[in-house]
Amino acid sequence: MKKILLLLAILGFCSFTEAANLHKKNDSNTIPLISVSIAPQAFFVEKIAADTLKINVILPSNANEHHFEFKPSVMKKLEKSDIYFTIGLEFEKVFMEKFRHNFPKLEIVDMQKNISLMDFEDSHHHQQKDPHTWLDPVLVQTMAVNIYDTLIQKYPQNKDLYKKNLDQFLAELDRLNLQISSKLEKLKQREFVVYHPSWTYFAKRYHLTQIPVEILGKEPKIKDLQKLITLVKEKNIKTIFVQNGFPEKAAKTLARECNAKIFEINHLSKDWENELLRTSDALAKDSK
Ligand SMILES: [Zn+2]
Repeated sequence: MKKILLLLAILGFCSFTEAANLHKKNDSNTIPLISVSIAPQAFFVEKIAADTLKINVILPSNANEHHFEFKPSVMKKLEKSDIYFTIGLEFEKVFMEKFRHNFPKLEIVDMQKNISLMDFEDSHHHQQKDPHTWLDPVLVQTMAVNIYDTLIQKYPQNKDLYKKNLDQFLAELDRLNLQISSKLEKLKQREFVVYHPSWTYFAKRYHLTQIPVEILGKEPKIKDLQKLITLVKEKNIKTIFVQNGFPEKAAKTLARECNAKIFEINHLSKDWENELLRTSDALAKDSK
């Protein structure tokens, strides 16, 4: 009887250690999860991390980044993440203290560190800074370095890979900046009309002027729309840029009244680089 018990104990111990080993093996095979607020950030992180990380994008596609609210399912994914890269959006700030308190293992990193932010003119909150830095390839270089600095702290075993990928991405961004500059440098018409003013940093980089349709985050009132119609006619602007997830009624009225066409662009595209080039081409085509 004693022998049988001993045998059972040994068997039990073996299967216990086996299970423990198996668990360990699974752990090392699990790809860490990190979270970002918007899809372009996922494009940037992927450039540096390649397939060493899984990336959770919080904002669904076709959503307005200024009118989003966290749902419990989103919280769960955030809780499982090692890092959360923020990008200065309103919805991030609402729960920031809660995240810090409830998810002590989650590292919250400001992707816009070392970037001086402009005031957000189209905002009802006076203290609000313009968060749309991700549409300027030169500012994205600063964000890429911020991503790199964070990732090598958290995953030092991948440092060589991350360094190689960072250098490559910085060179790509240099090329992209030159490419966009050459597309836009000779334009005579340097003003463009866009529904949501997310192109402030882009416009500043390439010496363009952005004219928004939206006022204080809302559709313009009749009086403001009238003013805009007069302005667009006066300047002979022939394209009204609109964005998915934002209202289109005023933009459509404006286009109809000014005999301009509607062109849809996406400042939240995951296909970030191609979207910047496509937008630059559309700007160039419109205003030769
Ligand atoms: Zn925006």
